[in-house]
Amino acid sequence: KSFEDLGLDPRILKGLSAMSFRKPSKVQERALPLLMQNPPKNLVGQSQSGTGKTAAFVLNVLSRVDISTEEMRATPQALILAPTRELARQIVGVVHAMGQFLDGLSIGTAVPADASARPTRMTAAIVVGTPGTVQEMIKRRVLNPTRLQVLVLDEADNMLDQQGLGDQCIRVKSMLPRTIQVVLFSATFPAHVHRYAAKFAPDANEITL
Ligand code: AMP
Repeated sequence: KSFEDLGLDPRILKGLSAMSFRKPSKVQERALPLLMQNPPKNLVGQSQSGTGKTAAFVLNVLSRVDISTEEMRATPQALILAPTRELARQIVGVVHAMGQFLDGLSIGTAVPADASARPTRMTAAIVVGTPGTVQEMIKRRVLNPTRLQVLVLDEADNMLDQQGLGDQCIRVKSMLPRTIQVVLFSATFPAHVHRYAAKFAPDANEITL
């Protein structure tokens, strides 16, 4: 199986070859057809870091955002939640690299800022952030959630290990459109992560590596 066989946009294929990604990793090969099916279905995936899960959810996000008009380019359409700002920044780097040939694509970062920074309106098609900051931005109406169509929760097990983050993700999700595609990745699935995933991403396709 090749990236071409997965039906990716030629500009995304170009980004992949610029990054020297030659063929899909196992998690990408299994997750991408499920993630990209229409109508969209939720996905719960078990995958350690180092397996290529970031690219799997980023490729789906890049495939789904509409950047054909100036208005849509400034409208948040995909939201990726990560447990730490470092991980959020890493994900932004991957979106940036894979999407480098998608002209007009903008990516926003929603992580705790310096006390001096004032929140400004989020005008990016793809937003990557930590749950608390994202929740705050939606509440303050600087992030408009009404056109979001994909929600990704990365490193769910890590998220649930940190006080309050799991609940914050649920609060964020409650402010999003009901029909949003939910994608949840976790390295491990102890019982509490399993229960959380079942609630956060109901009726999902499931993959385990
Ligand atoms: P991740 O599991 O998302 O943290 O990715 C692990 C590492 O594998 C990252 O450094 C990626 O750049 C790399 N990687 C992911 N998918 C591929 C691929 N299909 N071909 C080559 N490298 C990849």
